[in-house]
Amino acid sequence: MRRHNGLSLSLISLVSGVLMLLLSFYPKYHSDSRLFYYLPGAVEMGVFVYSLYSLKEKRISGFGINTSFLIFFCSLVFFCMFVYVSGQSPFAVRFLLMFLSFQIIFVLGLITSIAMNTGIILIFFIANKYYPTITGVNIPNNGIFDIYNIILSAIICMTLNWYTSHVIVSGIISYNHDQLTGLNNRRSFDQSVNFYTSVCRHVHQTVCVVMMDVDFFKPYNDFYGHTKGDIVLQSIGRALKELSEEEGLYTARVGGEEFIVLWTENRLIEAERVVLKLRQKIINLQIPHEKSTVAPYITASFGLYFMRGGSPDSKGELYNYADVALYKAKEAGRNCIMLLDSSDHVCRLIELRPPDGLTRR
Ligand code: GH3
Ligand code: MG
Ligand code: MG
Repeated sequence: MRRHNGLSLSLISLVSGVLMLLLSFYPKYHSDSRLFYYLPGAVEMGVFVYSLYSLKEKRISGFGINTSFLIFFCSLVFFCMFVYVSGQSPFAVRFLLMFLSFQIIFVLGLITSIAMNTGIILIFFIANKYYPTITGVNIPNNGIFDIYNIILSAIICMTLNWYTSHVIVSGIISYNHDQLTGLNNRRSFDQSVNFYTSVCRHVHQTVCVVMMDVDFFKPYNDFYGHTKGDIVLQSIGRALKELSEEEGLYTARVGGEEFIVLWTENRLIEAERVVLKLRQKIINLQIPHEKSTVAPYITASFGLYFMRGGSPDSKGELYNYADVALYKAKEAGRNCIMLLDSSDHVCRLIELRPPDGLTRR
């Protein structure tokens, strides 16, 4: 009975260690370094060896640590389930689930680890006192159960819980974020766009989407170099982030020098104000661009699609029509905003004053 119990705990530890290592090969959760995944797996393996040793020595400490790892593994599985489910959900729900599962790992993992270790050691302590022939494990005869074991296993459990959840969360963040600018990426946009359109369809809100493309960026790269080009993209990313904080918008980098802004606004005049503000923010960066024929600094072109009420075929529509409007803005001479209204599907140029007294060359 005794040997059997210890062996099964050790086997669970081994299986969980192997599963953790396998998890490290699951590409969806990869971060930059695989070491992050190997490390907890390796520790788990170490615990397996240790538990075998303590089994051989008939010591109780192996049980406590094994229990905390079992809980740790369960919370990890729980977390991965949440991540999987939330990966299929819209952005806001995903965020909430991520937050909740994080709490589960941190709080529940720690509390249950301490409580169960205490409980198990207490049970063994009592059992050993009254039925020493059944348990047969060696407990120090000083009358107090092994408190060090509880503290040690709780610390190990907490550290590993934090470590792995941190790595997984940062993996998810890098999964949805663009490395260069830190904005949301195309994958995140594809998920968010479904959320926006379906919600807006139900509450009869208008979805506004702006597709923005930097003007003459290839000549910029050719003239100033790719590294400088990257710095420009980062500055533009910061400007977009600023705007998204000020106005409460969703922003993403969807291509090399293409960005998207998404929000809901029923008043066209307000939507126009936001795009004008964005254009001004890009101009305010005042990044010199000698090879541009529209201005002596970096500018961008904008396609604004104003999708009233959310029409039935709205999934790909949002992106495509914003792209059409952007194309028209490029045709109209760049550094300008083209509006496409879903009510009549006619493109209109939003009238723009030349900024800061600078006129087109
Ligand atoms: P237009 O005004 O018509 O938009 O002209 P453009 O030169 O901006 O358009 P085009 O699509 O021909 O060029 C896009 C360029 O963006 C090509 C590539 O050199 C550059 N680019 C794409 N991704 C990156 C990136 O991550 N970093 C840098 N530095 N450049 C990039
Ligand atoms: Mg482009
Ligand atoms: Mg461009």
